[in-house]
Amino acid sequence: MKVIYSDQHTGHDPQQFIVRGRMKRSNEQPERGTLLLNAARAQGHEVVAPADHGPGPRAAIHTPQYLRFLETAWERWQQLEGASEEVMPNVHPFPGQPFTYPDSLVGQAGYHMGDMACSIGRHTWHAATWSAHVATHAAQLVLDGERAAYALCRPPGHHAYADRANGFTYLNNAAIAAQHLRGRHDRVAILDIDVHHGNGTQGIFWRRRDVLTISLHGDPHFCTPFFTGHAHEMGEGEGLGYNLNLPLARGTQDEGFLAALATALATIRAYAPGALVVALGLDAHEHDPYQMLGVSTAGFGRILGEIARLGLPTVLVQEGGYLSEDLGPNLASALGGFEKAA
Ligand SMILES: [Zn+2]
Repeated sequence: MKVIYSDQHTGHDPQQFIVRGRMKRSNEQPERGTLLLNAARAQGHEVVAPADHGPGPRAAIHTPQYLRFLETAWERWQQLEGASEEVMPNVHPFPGQPFTYPDSLVGQAGYHMGDMACSIGRHTWHAATWSAHVATHAAQLVLDGERAAYALCRPPGHHAYADRANGFTYLNNAAIAAQHLRGRHDRVAILDIDVHHGNGTQGIFWRRRDVLTISLHGDPHFCTPFFTGHAHEMGEGEGLGYNLNLPLARGTQDEGFLAALATALATIRAYAPGALVVALGLDAHEHDPYQMLGVSTAGFGRILGEIARLGLPTVLVQEGGYLSEDLGPNLASALGGFEKAA
């Protein structure tokens, strides 16, 4: 399988991540990219550098206002007296209340940044744009006839809404890949198996029926992003019935995950899309630092094998999965399981 990778992510190394009130370095570190790349290389996959696909693919998903903010926020932040090295929000609009888009950069940060897990550093915009190029490139390879391609995206993307960063993500790579595939296919499905709900992806396609969104994840009763990911969220308007959430109980292991996956795959088969995007988080693993679910390394091979048996042109987009000695083996198991069944 072709592995799309760009080393342009390495400058993005967020140092500010507030968890349980304490500031620490982000879990979403450049070392993840290196580790995943080494695992893919060791398995013999061909590594391909992405082309610069320009601003079009990201502009097809994200608002101009948000893209302008992401591109300029770090430089503007440096001009604020006493500002920290990285852009961090500290004030947010209230849901359901009328508001005016703020002129103040601090206000804009609160508007466009949903939490304290998406700080913007000097190289964040650059890394995010190249991560989107990686996803677009993989989608293009699949449109050109590859059975599947793996986009080694960093930063990840599935929490990013059309106009809001959160949860380590800025540009929604899976959504960008799906939209690119829509250029050829009338219907595209996104299957998100990251342990966290793909809230940004759900939000982006909430009112659309041409992109089916399905997410398997730790139940939001115990798992971030808390506010979304419940089974009753099914889309609205034209999109009603085209969003499926399958929340899983804490500690769910391979068999439980595969049972929910069967529901997801039956829904995809009924939808009959022309192509599939898999938001491939590896943080459902039993030894992932997040410790939410209990999928085994071999389990990822079985999961991706079942997905491959859909027989669809497939773009695998890297989402979460954090530093542990199992991260590389988990990716190898996933890619190997897909290829064996494809
Ligand atoms: Zn995750």
